Amino acid sequence: VVASMAHLQEEKLRLQEELLALQEKLAARENEELAVSVQLQGQVENLKANLLDQAQEISRLRSELGGTDLEKHRDLLAAENERLRQEMKAREGELRELRRQQAPCRGCAHLQENAGLQERLSQLQREAEEARAKLAELDLEVQQKTNRLAEVELRLKDSLAERAEEEERLSRRLRDSQETIASLKSQPQQIKYIIKTVEVESAKAKQALCESQSRNQYLQEQVGMQRQVLKEMEQQLQSSQKTAAQLRAQIAMYESELERAHGHMLEEMQAMEDEKNRAIEEAFSRAQVEMKAVHENLAGVRTNLLTLQPALRTLTHDYNSLKRQVRDFPVLLQETLRSARAEIGQAIEEVNSTNRELLRKYRRELQLRKKCHNELVRLKGNIRVFGRVRPITKEDGEGPEAANAVTFDADDDAVLHLLHKGKQVSFELDKVFPPQASQEEVFQEVQALVTSCIDGYNVCIFAYGQTGAGKTYTMEGTSANPGINQRALQLLFSEVRSKAADWDYTITVSVAEIYNEALRDLLGKEPHEKLEIKLCPDGSGQLYVPGLTEFRVQSVEDINKVFEFGHVNRVTECTNLNEHSSRSHALLIVTVHGLDRSTGLRTTGKLNLVDLAGSERVGRSGAEGSRLREAQYINKSLSALGDVIYALRSRQGHVPFRNSKLTYLLQDSLSGDSKTLMMVQVSPAEKNTSETLCSLKFAERVRSVELGPVSRKAELVSWPSQEQLEGDLQGTAASSSRGHASPSPGPPSGRAASIRRKLQTSG
Ligand code: ADP
Ligand code: MG
Repeated sequence: VVASMAHLQEEKLRLQEELLALQEKLAARENEELAVSVQLQGQVENLKANLLDQAQEISRLRSELGGTDLEKHRDLLAAENERLRQEMKAREGELRELRRQQAPCRGCAHLQENAGLQERLSQLQREAEEARAKLAELDLEVQQKTNRLAEVELRLKDSLAERAEEEERLSRRLRDSQETIASLKSQPQQIKYIIKTVEVESAKAKQALCESQSRNQYLQEQVGMQRQVLKEMEQQLQSSQKTAAQLRAQIAMYESELERAHGHMLEEMQAMEDEKNRAIEEAFSRAQVEMKAVHENLAGVRTNLLTLQPALRTLTHDYNSLKRQVRDFPVLLQETLRSARAEIGQAIEEVNSTNRELLRKYRRELQLRKKCHNELVRLKGNIRVFGRVRPITKEDGEGPEAANAVTFDADDDAVLHLLHKGKQVSFELDKVFPPQASQEEVFQEVQALVTSCIDGYNVCIFAYGQTGAGKTYTMEGTSANPGINQRALQLLFSEVRSKAADWDYTITVSVAEIYNEALRDLLGKEPHEKLEIKLCPDGSGQLYVPGLTEFRVQSVEDINKVFEFGHVNRVTECTNLNEHSSRSHALLIVTVHGLDRSTGLRTTGKLNLVDLAGSERVGRSGAEGSRLREAQYINKSLSALGDVIYALRSRQGHVPFRNSKLTYLLQDSLSGDSKTLMMVQVSPAEKNTSETLCSLKFAERVRSVELGPVSRKAELVSWPSQEQLEGDLQGTAASSSRGHASPSPGPPSGRAASIRRKLQTSG
């Protein structure tokens, strides 16, 4: 084993030496190859530079012109080409040499040695394998002989360890050598690559050479072409010289022709000159003849002019005189205007004076008319009583109870007959309206009273009668067919409008009711509140109602609003409106304040429109409780109204105005100069005859009262002649003396202004 180990060691050393030698050889070879490749690169560079020179030379030659130089250059280029070709051949030879030198490298001794070494290495490996097998056998033998060979065993163990180490080192070495061999194998491939590049580059050089040769060829062709062109140009020159000679001959020919033409032209010109002179002569002679004619004409015109001159003179004269007239015209005009103005002024003055006279007469007539009207009223009586019979309605039922008991006189519209308990009773009133009389007809009879309110009179219109006799219909009417209230206000508005040029009017309204002797404001914020009638604290003796609302009205819309408002208040204050309204007096108080702007005359008139409570005698038919009390109040107030009227009629010292709220409130509209209309409403039905009888008796009694002559409540501020005139015309009992001159009441101060009343002492 030791011997084999030593042998292996020796073998390994030898292999290492061989490897080193191989590596050296490889390095030398590499150096050689590097040197050869550098040399080859240098040669390729040279060739490239040569090629560049050639290319430059060719371009220079291209830019040059001239046959001889080109030829020289061509010769030079041919020589250069030859030289390059030879050089190329030499390079090719060198390349071949190089290839030949490289060829032994492929099958070189190193490779053969390498292969031998490898073979030997594998043989050694095989031998090592065999040795290992032997070693295993020996191991077995060693183990068997352990007991006997302890020492040998120890040594063997040592040697075994050593051998294992050595083995490993060897195998490492072997692997290294194998790698080196592999790298060496790849080296020749590198060399092959370099050779190939050289071959490619020499091919490029060849191609460049070919290109330069072809360029040379092309240049030679160019030179040949240039020469040809030169030849052609020479030929052209010769032909153009020929043409020039021909042209010269032609010119000579043309010149001779020109000379001929010139001669001809001169001849023609001469002929034309002669012609012209002839024409001029002819024209001159013609012009002379014409001139003569013109002279003759001129002479005629001159004579004409001479005759025109006097006409022109007269025209100028006329013109001048006209101018003078125009200059004088404004003065004349002004004079005329002045005189016309004076005439017109005079006429206007005359018209004015006539107007004034007419106006004076008109006013006098107006006063007279008023006086006559007042006289008429006085003659008719201050209290006028009308009767109105309503038609039979469904409410009256059927049968004998609903039969008609009222008849009229065909000849007298103031008489009516009532059939009561088989007896016919006749009544005479101021006027009787039958059932078919319209609201319009009724109002026509009333409107004179309404207008007198504008003139400053106090007016009362009462609707009297039993419940259901048509009081409310006459006073309020329906919306489609309004009654006296609305028509009166409309009439007031239209009257006020027609007088607006001279008068300022203010119309205010209050709506109130008297129920159970309590006065309520139906336009106020608190309609349930009882109002009091009081004496003015200023000692004037006038009455007023503190807190009574007054609305200023200017249109029909305003009136409708006021009525609606009053109606709503009345409805909310009672449970049964029909019953309530029949047991209370409804008052519409219209106050008209007027101011005559020209005279300063102030007037105040009051129109009281009263829908009285039902006059039926309830108390006598055994009513009780509140109904009885209501009936008592109604009876009391209606008989107080009768009493007052009676006292006034009979001129008693004491008039019991204070016996009821109604008479107290209307005191100033009932007394003295006031005008009163009582509209007695009756039902024509058989069942109502006893009530109808009572109402008509009341009417007759009232009608007989005389209130005395009417006077106007007017405060005279200026223009006394009018009032005096009225007094003069009226005779001894002048109303003005009885007029209640009062301090100017002025217009009402607003919605809630209290009514100021004039109090007339009962005496
Ligand atoms: P009063 O107010 O006196 O109680 P109304 O005015 O309420 O009576 O009239 C009672 C009824 O008779 C109403 O339906 C009303 O329309 C009708 N009436 C009254 N007068 C006339 C008349 N002249 N023409 C037609 N209908 C009338
Ligand atoms: Mg009524």
